[in-house]
Amino acid sequence: MSLAVDRLVLRQLLLAGIEDAVEFGKELRCYAIQRDGRVVAHFTDGSRAEGDVLVAADGVNSVVRHQYLSHARIVDTGVRQLYGAVPLTDRTRNLFDEDMFGVFTVITGPEGTYLGVAPVQFPVPPQRAGAMAGLALLPVSDYMTCSFGARREWFADSADTLRAMNGAQLHAIMTAATGDWHPRVREIVANCVPDSLFALPLRTCVPIDPWPTTSVTLLGDAIHAMSPAAGSGACTALRDAARLTAALTDAAADDDPITALRAYETAMIDYGFAAVRAGAINGQRHLGQDPLP
Ligand SMILES: Cc1cc2nc3c(=O)[nH]c(=O)nc-3n(C[C@H](O)[C@H](O)[C@H](O)COP(=O)(O)OP(=O)(O)OC[C@H]3O[C@@H](n4cnc5c(N)ncnc54)[C@H](O)[C@@H]3O)c2cc1C
Repeated sequence: MSLAVDRLVLRQLLLAGIEDAVEFGKELRCYAIQRDGRVVAHFTDGSRAEGDVLVAADGVNSVVRHQYLSHARIVDTGVRQLYGAVPLTDRTRNLFDEDMFGVFTVITGPEGTYLGVAPVQFPVPPQRAGAMAGLALLPVSDYMTCSFGARREWFADSADTLRAMNGAQLHAIMTAATGDWHPRVREIVANCVPDSLFALPLRTCVPIDPWPTTSVTLLGDAIHAMSPAAGSGACTALRDAARLTAALTDAAADDDPITALRAYETAMIDYGFAAVRAGAINGQRHLGQDPLP
């Protein structure tokens, strides 16, 4: 089953009710495991926090993974993608065939280029649904994600240069690349909001063998960053969070977090790296990405 979720809305929902327990503006610098097994996290502002367990959810550039599993590698897939959005209005809806309102549609062009579109539609506007639950959510309207991708050799600019470009510059690249495509595709690109655009090199981790469990663990992109080609990075991160929460809740009764973390990691390493491999195979087939090393 597939479900389209807006990142900002999901983030607001996940934070609802736990605002007091979340502190922003702290950047982790490193951690240390003490003799008694407890972990101390050190932040760049000189402050520290101590706990029984450290859960690294710090994404693809994870500071914790660099320190803890320094042999784990993140590699470039060879594909660059420009991401943006087309607001869905009565007029722009007509640009998309009915089946493009399914999950993700790839429109392939010459030289391995492609345009990907995927709908994000709300059965009830988030602000109204939030108000019914007593939550003040920011307004978001229906949109179609619209991304243009190609192999790195196709682009005249390096990944760093692309990343530094503003929306108008990225929009110009997309417009030129699709200049002789089907008129409806050109119209879709014309309606992609320049300010919504950003460029990313697609990256993936390289799966590693299991490691001995300690009081430091990882979840999400920090341990299994994957090609977006299977659309399962965020889903797998949420699966980790649910599984880890259940394991640690059970462990609280007998005060044995390591056994709980071992059970979580055994399962996560299996399904997490399977998702990485599935993403790489999909990415090779549909986006022209490099195979996993
Ligand atoms: C353009 C794009 C499209 C995608 N599409 C999909 C999709 O369709 N479906 C899907 O399932 N997945 C998709 N993904 C993948 C998905 O976004 C990720 O898998 C998911 O966000 C991983 O969540 P995470 O919490 O592990 O990491 P992140 O979302 O990267 O969050 C990590 C957090 O840690 C913070 N952080 C980093 N370093 C530090 C530090 N030193 N100290 C303190 N905080 C730190 C960051 O600021 C960030 O807030 C997509 C990814 C991209 C880039």
